[in-house]
Amino acid sequence: MSLFEFFFLAHDARFVALAAAVCLVSAYGCICLLRHARLATGMIGLAWIGVTAFAVGFGIWTTHFIGMLALRPGFPLAYEPWLTTASLLIAVALGGLGIAMAVRGQGVADQFLGGAVLGIAIACMHFTGMAAVVLGGGIVWNIGLIAASVIAGIVLGGLAFVAAMRGRTLLAALLLALAICGMHFTAMAAADFSRCFPLHAPGSAPIGWISVGVALVSLLLLGAAIFSMVLDKHEHRRTLNEQARQLADANRIAEVTGLLEMATTHMAQGLCLFDSKGILQFHNRRIAELVGTPKGNDNLVGWHFRDLSIALQALAQDLVVAGPEDVEQRVDAMIASIRGGATSDYLRTMRDGRIIRMQHSPIAHGGWVTTLDDVTEQQRTHAEITQMAYRDSLTNLLNRAAFDEAVDFALATARVNHSNFAVIAIDLDRFKEINDSFGHAVGDQVLKILGARLSAGLREGEVVARLGGDEFAALKTFTSMDSLRAFLTRIEDALFARIQTDKVSVNSAASMGVAIFPDDGGDRSRLLNNADLAMYRAKAEFDRRLCYYEKTMDEQARQRRSMAQDLWLALETDGFHLVYQVQKSVSTNLVTGYEVLLRWDRPGHGLVPPSEFIPIAEESGAIAGIGAWVLRKACADAAAWPDPYKVAVNVSGVQLGQIELIETVRDVLLQTGLAPARLELEVTETSIIADKPRALHILRQIKAMGVSIAIDDFGTGYSSIDMLRSFPFDRIKIDRSFVAEVELNERSRAIVRAMLALCQSLSVPVLAEGVETQAQLDLLRAEGCTEVQGYLLGRPGVIDWSDDVAPVRGLG
Ligand code: C2E
Ligand code: CA
Ligand code: CA
Repeated sequence: MSLFEFFFLAHDARFVALAAAVCLVSAYGCICLLRHARLATGMIGLAWIGVTAFAVGFGIWTTHFIGMLALRPGFPLAYEPWLTTASLLIAVALGGLGIAMAVRGQGVADQFLGGAVLGIAIACMHFTGMAAVVLGGGIVWNIGLIAASVIAGIVLGGLAFVAAMRGRTLLAALLLALAICGMHFTAMAAADFSRCFPLHAPGSAPIGWISVGVALVSLLLLGAAIFSMVLDKHEHRRTLNEQARQLADANRIAEVTGLLEMATTHMAQGLCLFDSKGILQFHNRRIAELVGTPKGNDNLVGWHFRDLSIALQALAQDLVVAGPEDVEQRVDAMIASIRGGATSDYLRTMRDGRIIRMQHSPIAHGGWVTTLDDVTEQQRTHAEITQMAYRDSLTNLLNRAAFDEAVDFALATARVNHSNFAVIAIDLDRFKEINDSFGHAVGDQVLKILGARLSAGLREGEVVARLGGDEFAALKTFTSMDSLRAFLTRIEDALFARIQTDKVSVNSAASMGVAIFPDDGGDRSRLLNNADLAMYRAKAEFDRRLCYYEKTMDEQARQRRSMAQDLWLALETDGFHLVYQVQKSVSTNLVTGYEVLLRWDRPGHGLVPPSEFIPIAEESGAIAGIGAWVLRKACADAAAWPDPYKVAVNVSGVQLGQIELIETVRDVLLQTGLAPARLELEVTETSIIADKPRALHILRQIKAMGVSIAIDDFGTGYSSIDMLRSFPFDRIKIDRSFVAEVELNERSRAIVRAMLALCQSLSVPVLAEGVETQAQLDLLRAEGCTEVQGYLLGRPGVIDWSDDVAPVRGLG
């Protein structure tokens, strides 16, 4: 029989096609289910194996019976029901075994073997199904084709499962369908029904459209199975995705936690996280390093804030005064305030001296974060900066800023209490000279000693500060004037006691001014200013160390300002004039020169003595212009004199501090044509000391022009003798205070004698000032004085040239 005959004559092609379609669909379903069964494990996996077994079994069985429907043996076929059912059970059971082997197996061999078992299941089903056919006569079997059909089923089934497990679903489905159809139709080809005849055995069922119903049912079953599989697969994929996400999340969390842990471990601050109940949820390791952990316990998670605080209490030194209940109360109060949303921030000093800053910052849900920070270094620097900002580094007394604050504080207190306090301005006398004579190191030492003395006996309500240089200030809150006076006496004692440094012993002196709140001023600047005014008064008055502020001082200050204004005006309006006082030789009685003295007829005030207006001119800066004017006028006058006498011009300390003086002198000499040898500048020791190197530099330049330099008021300064060594003065003018005393006082006479002897040894001519009596003159002559000046020889005035040659009375 040809293949054509076999399929188109012996079979109904429509049923063949239906069988093939059913077979293909169920094969595809099987493969899908098979692969799905592999994904599940345990009982679920077993269930899926069962489902697959049913699908395979029904698929094979249905294909077989539709295939049988297609057969046209020439008569209707009937089936024995029990064997028919058995064939279905065999297909399911044996197929299930094959599937189980493939699903649970490990390698390709297991998969192939499973497929092979399925092939056997197909064959067993087929032949059992054939045995169920009720026929008369007998089927003649072709053994070769039977063998081929069985082998085809086994090999194709095996290949189908291998392909299925490789993910080649379609190929696997085709192979499986081929295994089923191939086995069936090959086996059918092996059967010869020509000798058969229909037989109606009792209980046999004629197969007809029922088979089609069975096919539909089995397809429905398969459909349901596949639908549930799809659902399951979807679910499975979701679970897989979920698992993958959870895994990724877990990895991320682990990673982030790791980073966080690393960050918190290495951060400089200690970090604690408390929940709303005050239980420690997290802390980093730094905590242990910062404050130590109770009982050496490294993990404090789970501790209550209260217990931690009490444990910490034992480690801190600043709160040890409190008893345990006290601490508990305090801690509870703190917890309450943190929960209320308040951030607290405070410092704790540990027993080892370290300062720990603690901050509690509330977070969401009632918990809080506590951070601990070692701020010892920061606090120390802060303290140092405060110290620097408020202390004078040399004396360690308060500085100006601190004193200002102290005054402000005293003001605020006194206003409330209606009490009094005094501000005392203190200025050392002639400190510049100490500095200059003995050096800055000694000066610093003197200041230090004074600072220590001043601060030594301070009591409550008393403050002493150094405002700068040789300027000090004190403050005293007092209730009785007696206590203020006692304080002032203590200050005086400190200032006036002789100072012994490791090198020298010096006398210290100072001037003090007192201003009292509220009478002498209602605010800081007024009080300080008035204390200063009082201090200036003390300085100006020779016999007073201490002055209390008086209202008239304001008036005096005002007058000084007004005088300064008038001085500037006088300079602009040619308001000054000059007088000359004669200087004579003691031995020859001849005029040697004239000292020029400034006169100011102040409008509305009359003649003002230079001792009054020169300091104000110096203070206000007018002295530079005035001094230059005097120099120019005096030189011009002298150049016009009939006789070439010398002219002596006084130069202020302020002028000596200005380098322009050199140019002024050069200019004036050039313009007036006066021979430099006829000009003499008189400078005082005090004016040189203000800035000795600069003053001496200026004097050297001027001396180099041929101008002579005289030292004025000699003997009144601190270091007259030293001054003689630092500059080659051309003349020394002994101060008139010595001359005045020379007659009356043996001691003064001795000093004058010593000074004259000294100058003679240095071969410097000496001029004695202020000679008023013949006796003084005689004495000076006897001691070897070279020149004299004074009322006895002539008062300052206009030079009367006609009188010039006349001998001065008493000299001849
Ligand atoms: P000085 O340089 O010591 O000037 C001498 C002062 O002694 C003058 O006072 C003079 O009138 C006064 N005098 C002269 N003979 C006698 C005497 O026998 N007995 C007494 N008791 N006094 C006598 P004067 O003019 O009032 O000047 C005072 C001071 O003013 C001067 O002291 C000088 O330091 C300063 N001065 C005067 N004119 C100028 C000037 O043009 N420039 C500067 N920078 N200072 C000047
Ligand atoms: Ca003079
Ligand atoms: Ca003088």
